[in-house]
Amino acid sequence: MTAFWTSPDFDEHERVELVHDRASGLTAFVAIHSSHLGPGAGGTRFWHYPDPAMAMRDALRLSRGMSYKNAMAGLPMGGGKAVILANVARDKTPAMMAAFGDAIEALCGTYVTAEDVGMSEADMAAIAARTSYVTGLPAQGTGDRGGDPGPHTSRGVFLGVREAVRVGLGKHSLSGVHVAVQGTGSVGGGLARHLASQGARLTLADIDAARAERLAAELGGEAVPADAIMDIECDVFSPNALGAILDDEGIARLRAPVVAGGANNQLARAHHGDTLAERGILYAPDYVINAGGIIAVTHEYLARREGRTLDIAITHAAVDAIPARLAEIWEAAHAKHAAPSRVADAMAQQLIGRG
Ligand code: NAD
Repeated sequence: MTAFWTSPDFDEHERVELVHDRASGLTAFVAIHSSHLGPGAGGTRFWHYPDPAMAMRDALRLSRGMSYKNAMAGLPMGGGKAVILANVARDKTPAMMAAFGDAIEALCGTYVTAEDVGMSEADMAAIAARTSYVTGLPAQGTGDRGGDPGPHTSRGVFLGVREAVRVGLGKHSLSGVHVAVQGTGSVGGGLARHLASQGARLTLADIDAARAERLAAELGGEAVPADAIMDIECDVFSPNALGAILDDEGIARLRAPVVAGGANNQLARAHHGDTLAERGILYAPDYVINAGGIIAVTHEYLARREGRTLDIAITHAAVDAIPARLAEIWEAAHAKHAAPSRVADAMAQQLIGRG
């Protein structure tokens, strides 16, 4: 594995920890990109990586994305992310979650974790038995817990897709608008339900084909094989699975005037944002459109730490602000003849003191 600081994904990260616990078999990376606005906050991903270098790459890229996401969402949090290197069978044990909780506690609040791909509310509860630097905990009727960030992310992505359709296609209704959804898990599935409720036409795909087929049957859409979704001619291509799908090859395949979805790190490299703009495709910067979940779990975290009752109406209002932020980026991109991804990056870098 090459040294992470020579990796093109290293971006002056403040801290990168390798956590290994022999007894439980836990191996994880925790990356804190920036603490300029507050403690590094971002979820933990539990994933099987064929090569540890790919896990490191994910931690570096995702933590920088969290710095940008939290800053653009106006949250008093920096950017961090953890990845747990699962084995092929993705065995997850209570001892592993306990060891991970201890590792977070040892970071003394410089990193706050929550759910990401492969982690559940129950996992967060297990981690919370060892550290208080965790959020996205199961609701227990106390009013201070927001729980699973997925529904808030889906709602924010839905509002962002609607705004992209307005700005990019000049349509004020989603009725009949054809959206191709890649990934029908927590975020993609929730998004598809919102879209269906507004009369959108759906094409769905997931590597778990049965999952996409079930949802298509429920919502009246069409399911296609996972490797076909990027070739679908549609109004909006919505990535809601894993990242780096917008590379030279991926962008060349697209037959959609709008790309707007919840997946993190959709652009393989920064210049792929330019490629999208050159092709005339309106792109919703991922870390802006998918901020609903981190907004919710941060509100939950801050309420708990400050001994306040969580006011979910304030969380909803903050998620409602996502479309206006996107519109501001698109307007500035239009005025500057620049790609929206570049404009958003510049805004975020300014906010985290790296302008
Ligand atoms: P999830 O695990 O619930 O769902 C992901 C789905 O994508 C799964 O059904 C999986 O089978 C499918 N998938 C994986 N690879 C695929 C591929 N190549 N083609 C098609 N489908 C594929 O995860 P999620 O919480 O819905 O997260 C989805 C994305 O959104 C991730 O990139 C995540 O980082 C991002 N995100 C999630 C949240 C959140 O609140 N959950 C917040 C912000 C960003």
